[in-house]
Amino acid sequence: MITAIYPGSFDPITNGHIDIATRAAKIFGKVYVGVFKTPANKRLLFTTEERIELARKSLAHLRNVEVVSFVGLTVQFAREVNADVMVRGLRMGADFEREFEMAMMNKKLFPDLEMVCFMASQEYQFLSSSLLKEVAALEGNISYLVPPHVADAIRQKTGKKC
Ligand code: ADP
Repeated sequence: MITAIYPGSFDPITNGHIDIATRAAKIFGKVYVGVFKTPANKRLLFTTEERIELARKSLAHLRNVEVVSFVGLTVQFAREVNADVMVRGLRMGADFEREFEMAMMNKKLFPDLEMVCFMASQEYQFLSSSLLKEVAALEGNISYLVPPHVADAIRQKTGKKC
C-alpha cells in the first residue's frame, strides 16, 4: 500500500484542495492531509484546530483520508507516518518554481520520499486560500469556492457578508 502526505496551510481548505485530496485518494492507499501548524510568512485567519476541523468535515466522505496537524519539517512529518509520497497541487505559473525548489531540498533531506504533483483542475487554477480571504474581506461571493460549512466559518470569523 502506498502512503501519501498532502501537506499545506489549509487556511482554510478550498474546493481546489478538496479536488487534489480526492484525486490523490483514488491513487494512494492512504492519504494524510497534514495541516502545518506554524507556516512562516503567512497571516492565518483560522487556528490550527479550526483548520483541522474544517478540513476533516470537507474530506469526511473519503475513507482513506486522515487529517492531522504537524510542526517542523515536512519530511519529518512524512517519516513519522511512513509516507512514500508527498502530494502537492500545481496551479499555472506561480507554483512550479517554488515546488521544484522545495522538491530538490526535500530530496536531499529524505531521498526515499517521492513527490507527486497533481495539475490543478481548470476551474480551480486561480483559487488560493489567500485570494479567497481577500474576496471575503471585500464581501465578494465565495460560495462557489469552498463548501458551505467553510463559507459559514469565514463569515463568522470575519463578520463579512461574503
Ligand atoms: P502552502 O502554504 O504549503 O502553499 P496551501 O494550503 O496554500 O499550503 O496549499 C497546499 C497545497 O495545495 C499546495 O501544494 C498548493 O499548491 C495546493 N493548492 C492550493 N490551492 C490549490 C488549487 N486551487 N488547486 C490545486 N492545488 C492547490
